[in-house]
This record gives sequence, structure tokens and C-alpha cells, in this order.
Amino acid sequence: MNENIAFFDTKPYDEKSFEQHNASVGFNITYFDAHLNKQTAQLCKGFDGVCVFVNDQIDAEVIQILLENNIRIIALRCAGYNNIDIKAASGKIKLVRVPAYSPYAVAEHTAALMLTLNRKTHQAYHRTRDGNFSINGLLGFDMHNRTAGVIGTGQIGRCLIAILKGFRMNVLAYDIAPDQAYADMAGISYVPIDELYSQSDIISLHCPLNQRTEHMIDRLSIEKMKPGVMLVNTSRGKLIDTKALIGGLKSGKIGYAALDVYEEEVDCFFEDKSLELMNDDILARLLTFPNVIITSHQGFFTEEALCNIAQTTLQNLSAFFQGEELKNEVCYVSPS
Ligand code: NAD
Repeated sequence: MNENIAFFDTKPYDEKSFEQHNASVGFNITYFDAHLNKQTAQLCKGFDGVCVFVNDQIDAEVIQILLENNIRIIALRCAGYNNIDIKAASGKIKLVRVPAYSPYAVAEHTAALMLTLNRKTHQAYHRTRDGNFSINGLLGFDMHNRTAGVIGTGQIGRCLIAILKGFRMNVLAYDIAPDQAYADMAGISYVPIDELYSQSDIISLHCPLNQRTEHMIDRLSIEKMKPGVMLVNTSRGKLIDTKALIGGLKSGKIGYAALDVYEEEVDCFFEDKSLELMNDDILARLLTFPNVIITSHQGFFTEEALCNIAQTTLQNLSAFFQGEELKNEVCYVSPS
């Protein structure tokens, strides 16, 4: 393959992984640090395809600029595609993605966040390094016999459920497309969403972001939850109304929160902002809570996942340029 591909929002680890895997494929890849958005879309001039990540903003205007530059393929090197106007792309430009690169990576990170929040190892780490060996305030709870509510029982949800069942937790699940055969096999119960909210000690989100799920966790849903609930979001930031989350944390209704994703992450996640003033007051407030952990969209970030992302993305691009069937195409589905 000798097509020219523009990669956006790349970091040194992306470049290393893609260079390794592209050695036998042969695309001419140019790596841009910048996000793809309307300010940067003209960089596509002279390229045959583009490759994007979770925080590139591909709206109708960007799609129009890509089309004017004869780009006919956008390869997402991620699973979620909420950052693309699929309707605007439909019939004009092909979209391909990496539907599964390692559900284990995200599920294991989710479990790590749960254990950290519960046993307060983030605080213990700092205490012992400061010579403070007190355990006051570090009281946790047994995961064993507690109830976890998993929203979305796709690939990641199922991996997480297997881990939680290993802790001997009771697992309640909610999914718009429940799979009863899976539930019977895994020993979990599908319940209505309100029952999941009211019965769960830990709630973990594993459904996609779309019009139906945006702000599914809001003031009203938080009201339905158990006092002191732990809420974990490793899916997409906009599933949670962050202001409502802060309200829940302030009142104590939410006892713990872990976020690997955040509504406004596009401005800061994946970047070193340590020498700048923080101008996101909501994020700044979240970071003041000792019972909140924020990680910077690193759920996917394992060696295995990076390798699978590179392999599948290059296969998707090769299939397009060789006129083969696109196994991982994202297609627009009319809501009606
Ligand atoms: P998947 O498609 O395998 O599973 C999604 C599940 O959600 C499906 O079972 C689907 O039926 C269900 N669902 C859809 N709409 C729903 C709704 N309204 N309510 C309840 N359930 C609903 O996806 P996956 O691979 O398990 O990934 C889940 C999400 O994780 C992705 O959409 C992505 O946003 C996120 N993700 C995050 C990272 C990270 O690094 N933090 C990495 C990969 C994926």
C-alpha cells in the first residue's frame, strides 16, 4: 500500500505502535499532534485518507472540508464513534472503526478504579510516603456479597461482570438488548433501570453515548440511587451530567465516583497541563473531592490494545483501498 494517510491527535505511543505494524503494510503515514476539527481539516490536502481518535471532532463542516480534499475514508482507531456526524458522512465518505481491541483492558481498569476508591489506596499511597502510617479514614467494604449494577452488557460490560463475579458480587444488569442466555450462563439478572439504581452499591457504565444515553445519569437518576453509591464511568463522559454528579457528591448521596472519561475532556485529556492554570471550574471542583478519582481516558491503554488497534486500523484502511468488503464499517441508521 502506498497511499498517504493523515493521522490526527497522535502521541508518541501511537506512532511507535503504528510504525511497527505498518512496516509490513507500507502506508505513508503523517502524524499530526493536532485534533481534527474545522481549524485543522485543511491539513488533509494531498492525503488519501484520515485516521482519528476519540476527541477529534468530525462534524458536518469537517466532513465537507474532507470531501473537498477528496478524502473518502475516515478510519477511527477506537470503538466509539459519537464524535462523528455519521448522518453527514453517510453515502459520501466511508467510516471504519476498531470495534474490539481489548475489552479486558477497559474492564480491568474499571475494576482497578473500584478497588482504589473502595480501599482508598490512592490516599494510602500518599500517606505512607509522607511517613503517615495511620489508617484512620481508610475504611473500605467487602466487595463480596455487595451488589454491582452494570449498564450495558456488551463486550466490556461482560468482561467486567466476569471480574465482579470473581469477587462473589451479586450483579444486576440493564441493557436495551438483554441477552437472557448470557445472563443465565453468567449468573446475573437483568432488571429495569430504576431497580438497578435503587439496589446497587456500585454502578458502572458500559453503554455507548448516543441521543438516548446522553446525561442518563442526571439529578433524577441520582435521586433513585442508594445513599453512598459508587459510580464508575469508563464509557463516555457525556453519559453523566457532571453538575448533577457534583451535587450528588456534595450531598453525600454519591459516596464515590471514578471517571476515566469526562464531558469536556477534549480540552485537557491526553495532554500535560500541569504548568497551566486550570480554566475548567467543573473539573477543578471534581478534583477537590477525596472520594473522586479521575483518570485521563486510559482505560484502553494496554500493550495488547495498542497492538490490536494498529492491526485492525491498518486492515480497515487496506480493505478500503483494495476495494474489499469493509467488515468494520460504521453505517448511519435512521432513528425512525
Ligand atoms: P458494545 O457495543 O460491545 O456494548 C455496548 C452495550 O451497550 C450493548 O450491549 C448495547 O445493547 C448496550 N446499550 C446500548 N444502548 C443502551 C442503553 N440506552 N442502555 C443500556 N445499554 C445500552 O461496546 P463495548 O465494546 O462494551 O464498549 C462500551 C463503551 O465503552 C463504548 O461505547 C465506548 O464508549 C467505551 N469505551 C471506552 C474506552 C476507554 O478507554 N475508557 C475504550 C473502549 C470503549
